[in-house]
Amino acid sequence: MKKLILVLSAALLLVSQAYSKDKAPKEDKVKNVIVFIGDGMGLGAVSAWMVDQDYAMTCFDRAQFVGLCKTYSKNNRVTDSAASATALATGNKTNNGMIGMLPDETKVQNLTEYAKAMGKSTGIVVTSHVVDATPAGFIAHQKSRDDRDEITEDLVELKPDVLAGGGRKYFERNKSKNGRSLLEEMKDAGYAYVETPEDFAATSKTPVLALFADGSYSMAIDHGTDCLSDVTSHAIDLLDDDKNGFFLMVEGSHIDHAAHAGNAEQLMFEMEEFDKAVNSAFDYAQTHDGTLVIVTADHETAGVYVLSNDKDFTKGESGVKVGFATGSHTASLVPLYAFGASAYKFSGVMENTDVCKRIISVLQK
Ligand SMILES: [Zn+2]
Repeated sequence: MKKLILVLSAALLLVSQAYSKDKAPKEDKVKNVIVFIGDGMGLGAVSAWMVDQDYAMTCFDRAQFVGLCKTYSKNNRVTDSAASATALATGNKTNNGMIGMLPDETKVQNLTEYAKAMGKSTGIVVTSHVVDATPAGFIAHQKSRDDRDEITEDLVELKPDVLAGGGRKYFERNKSKNGRSLLEEMKDAGYAYVETPEDFAATSKTPVLALFADGSYSMAIDHGTDCLSDVTSHAIDLLDDDKNGFFLMVEGSHIDHAAHAGNAEQLMFEMEEFDKAVNSAFDYAQTHDGTLVIVTADHETAGVYVLSNDKDFTKGESGVKVGFATGSHTASLVPLYAFGASAYKFSGVMENTDVCKRIISVLQK
């Protein structure tokens, strides 16, 4: 029995050491930055996911530092994904609907362009389509999020090293000046072009254009919850061949759509897929010094809440249920989780624009 207790306490010590190592601040110098955006993912969605998991370890429990972001835009206390992506990607507030520019239409540099100028490799991975409002903030400068052909042109001009998500039709229907489709232009520019996550996994060097659907890629309830983590891991694998480091933005796009639809089951599938992808990036950061991972949301969607089934919750639990206060976005603060190099610089209450500013400041060190 004594021996068993010794073995058990040794095992517990190992677990707690692994856990505290996970929690320890990493060195300052940042070479690689991975930004995860759970579109519409507020504390309600995160709480619902933790309850769903019976409080077992989620990616959010692994965060080394936590912050809260104010998401209001220039012209509305309730932001849309275009203005908030612009804030996160460029450090500037703008009007709802606008991409990568100030309200007066001045274009402002985004993190992808910034990283490229530093000689880093860049990537965008989404579960909607690659020219949707959130990725658009990281690749384009347009007056309206609905100017998808123009956003695609900006994307083709910028040429990130890895692009993965839906959106084939925007590349096929969009012609360049010489009358060819932008898809052909990308192939001419040396891009390996693939149409499935399996074919993406088989690529071995950049640049890669992976378009999994005509429009948005399917939801996790349809394609399973391993897809985003597989694609993210492979994107990291491709990008980290660059000795100058990389910048990668990953969006769990359909968290927002599940919440808009008031569909708790879909929401949990999306959270599971997002959780796995974030965990894979945390694992990478844990074994690769100089990697910073930021996980946040562009805004909260639907006022997701976790209610007690019984008004009298003073005795014992009688179950909880996930609900939705609205079908729209809200002005709630969103959480931010930081892991890896310089993660400690991302705690406290901040503007969504501070996320970009702090990333630039840690990259400059
Ligand atoms: Zn939305």
